[in-house]
Amino acid sequence: MSSQWIFLSGEFVKKEDAVVSVYDHGFLYGDGVFEGIRVYSGNVFKLSEHLNRLYESAQSIMLKVPYTKEELERIIVESVRRNQLESAYIRVVVSRGVGNLGLDPKCCSQPRVIVIAEELSMFPKELYQRGLRVGSVASRRNRPDVLSPQVKSLNYLNNILVKLEANQAGVDEALMLNDQGYVTEGSADNIFIVKNDTIYTPPVYLGALEGITRNAIIDLAKELGYEMKEAPFTRHDVYVADEVFLTGTAVEVIAVVEVDGRKVHEGKPGKVTNHLLSEFRKIVVTHGVQCYPAETNQAVV
Ligand code: PMP
Repeated sequence: MSSQWIFLSGEFVKKEDAVVSVYDHGFLYGDGVFEGIRVYSGNVFKLSEHLNRLYESAQSIMLKVPYTKEELERIIVESVRRNQLESAYIRVVVSRGVGNLGLDPKCCSQPRVIVIAEELSMFPKELYQRGLRVGSVASRRNRPDVLSPQVKSLNYLNNILVKLEANQAGVDEALMLNDQGYVTEGSADNIFIVKNDTIYTPPVYLGALEGITRNAIIDLAKELGYEMKEAPFTRHDVYVADEVFLTGTAVEVIAVVEVDGRKVHEGKPGKVTNHLLSEFRKIVVTHGVQCYPAETNQAVV
């Protein structure tokens, strides 16, 4: 590919020209919101769900996205097309924009919108076959009444801190608990456990982001006839689960084979996890918006 095009403040610019001011409050304070979206064979998976979450995050922090959802959808699709991408990862960022060194958002008059679409670097196949080692961390998930995990804000320090803890512990991913000790999620993924043929995931009010992959897996599990429950659980439940897996835009569905040194499913990905991953990979091209419609210009819903 020749040059990568990035949408920045109203126009497409080359990657090397895509720079923002040091006075942007997204940079100075993490004042903004974002989404990570995936494109499968030209299909922007669950685009309207991602846009809804982006606009809700923005509404929550009183940030006005300077485009309608339809306009932003067109910009995202155009970003994929311009870069001639088939399988891609898209990052949409809306920052408060340029202000001064004070934190008051009043001084930022123009929110900034950025769309980066790039070739997807796939997670290695071996990782899905081997599964992840996960460790619970000392840092707790942000309390929903302090900084709600539903706001996908540019302030990801809570998540970065737990990733640091996981790195220090030499495991692949962190398991975050809330201030009551209930399991919430990973650093950037939701958690599911399987016990006696029932699948459980924590309700989001406990302090997990309402992941779009999470919701897709809940729907899929029900369609496939599994008993699926959103219910609180503790580390103990994870330790004695038949299977554990994580979901997210980047990881899709990935097995966890060890938690705090306890082997899960004898250290191997389980059949429910593998089943859900293979079925998930079938639906990713039918739920979303097609960037290169075959005959018409209609979006696939
Ligand atoms: N939790 C957190 C904290 C995340 O950052 C993500 C990634 N967006 C997820 C869960 C998974 O959400 P999704 O399936 O929408 O990517």
